[in-house]
Amino acid sequence: MTVEIINTGSELMLGRVLNTHAQWLGRRLGDLGYNLVRQVAVPDTGRSIQDAVREALGRVQVIIVTGGLGPTSDDLTRQLIAELLGKKLLTDDRVLREIEEFFAVRKRPMPPSNAVQALAPEGAIVLYNPNGTAPGLAMEVNPNPFGSAPAWIFMLPGPPRELHPMFKDQVVPLLKAKCPPGADVVCETWRSTGLGESALAERLEPKLAAYVALGADLGYCAHYGAVDVRIIARGETAAEIVRSAGAIIEAELGASIFGRNDDTLESVVVRELTERHKTLALAESCTGGVISHRITNVSGASVPFLGGFVTYSNEAKQKFLGVQAETLAQHGAVSEPTAREMAEGARRAMGADYAIAVTGVAGPTGGTEAKPIGTVFIALATVDGTKVIRMLNRWDREAFKAVTGNQALELLRRAVLGIA
Ligand code: ATP
Ligand code: MG
Repeated sequence: MTVEIINTGSELMLGRVLNTHAQWLGRRLGDLGYNLVRQVAVPDTGRSIQDAVREALGRVQVIIVTGGLGPTSDDLTRQLIAELLGKKLLTDDRVLREIEEFFAVRKRPMPPSNAVQALAPEGAIVLYNPNGTAPGLAMEVNPNPFGSAPAWIFMLPGPPRELHPMFKDQVVPLLKAKCPPGADVVCETWRSTGLGESALAERLEPKLAAYVALGADLGYCAHYGAVDVRIIARGETAAEIVRSAGAIIEAELGASIFGRNDDTLESVVVRELTERHKTLALAESCTGGVISHRITNVSGASVPFLGGFVTYSNEAKQKFLGVQAETLAQHGAVSEPTAREMAEGARRAMGADYAIAVTGVAGPTGGTEAKPIGTVFIALATVDGTKVIRMLNRWDREAFKAVTGNQALELLRRAVLGIA
């Protein structure tokens, strides 16, 4: 079953809004086994939306259009598509009542322009929107005036917090019922860190060649300091192919694999600490709180995570972590002994089982011959003592933080799991 996504909005053209729907929907459709063949983004001005929908009707069986269902003059998706297909717009009474209630509950008068959101092309299925006023719409195009086979068009609201639940709760069941994906598709991703993309590919490719010959897709995706390996297989034997290819990937990459699919280093660390009833403290200098941010993005982080320090100045390192003045004077803020004292100080101050500390030179200024830009010391203090690693992460500041964060979380993951 082929699918096309059309994301509408001039703000997408102007770079004011990042088109996250393309990624979010692409990911879900792929996992459901649909064959997404094209993603298009168009302005909501002029006839761009109609042109895009007309073309897509000549190409695919399912079209998902996002945005432009609101009440303002630039929200024209429903009108333009109805006009293209020669459908009348009729008021849906339930939607009108819900919009009126939406405003009544918030004790705000309903602007008359909101009434257009209760309009639906004749014959369309209305997807109710519990998170906003714009309902979604699903309509079958049969006969299809622009293509050789009938098609389905789904129109979904632009705001992600409205689109995501509507897609999961209403579009997916409808899609499965009206346009089942066809052949089984199984997609699985293994997430690794510490190995370069090409080195990893060289190790895996000879071992997986037989599966690729059977029609499995082998793909890689490199992130900062982490590489994903993805296998997609189709047909009746898809699950079996992915299972046995996965066993090879796991045997080959071993402990470098930290998780699968939606796992992140931080989610794995939080999960493993929680399972073991262990706690964590952080002391960050050059990462400026990025590691704390990542840890606290994980739901349930409050169980193992006691707290973190962002100690950017020498004074803060001394005052909050007890780093010795002599250590700083003798070795500098970016040094093995300072990282060690930071981690031990954070562990002591928070009474944590594990503490991670990072101190480094993010650049673009501040490097020396002995400690060039990108130098970073990452310390891990545990009940068994303190270990410090030295890395060279020569990137721009943001990438430096991301890579350093991965290395710190990986050091912690290995310690918690007892991996050498
Ligand atoms: P509204 O009722 O809020 O006007 P709408 O269905 O008309 O909703 P748009 O006006 O196109 O949708 O977009 C509303 C907001 O939703 C945008 O300002 C933007 O923040 C977000 N949005 C729209 N399209 C996308 C997209 N492709 N990716 C991420 N966010 C988006
Ligand atoms: Mg709008």
